[in-house]
Amino acid sequence: MKEKKCPVCEKGKLVHVEDIVSEVEGYFFIEKGNRCTSCGEEFIPEEEGQKMIKVARRMKIWGKPLKLYRKLSKSGRGTVLRIPSDLEKNLDIRGDEIVIISKVGKNKILIEIESAS
Ligand SMILES: [Zn+2]
Repeated sequence: MKEKKCPVCEKGKLVHVEDIVSEVEGYFFIEKGNRCTSCGEEFIPEEEGQKMIKVARRMKIWGKPLKLYRKLSKSGRGTVLRIPSDLEKNLDIRGDEIVIISKVGKNKILIEIESAS
């Protein structure tokens, strides 16, 4: 692998990372790219950016100001977040899928649908 120098600070080198977070209309996408070891600037290669745009388009969120606000509620065993029905339809969620929940940044939660059984 060739080492690339960061074009921003010109001190650090760029290392491959797979956890660059992009936000589109309140949705978060994890992308592959490079991050500078010195200043932390992130670079997303063209094809990765295109992939994200494609996914965003498929979810029909690209270029649409779709932000969904939901209030959490308490149930006997914990906190419940209801998935809005339009999103449910859009993602074909049936309600028995396994999801991966990750903490992103300080106050964001990323929910990925892993599989439908
Ligand atoms: Zn840098």
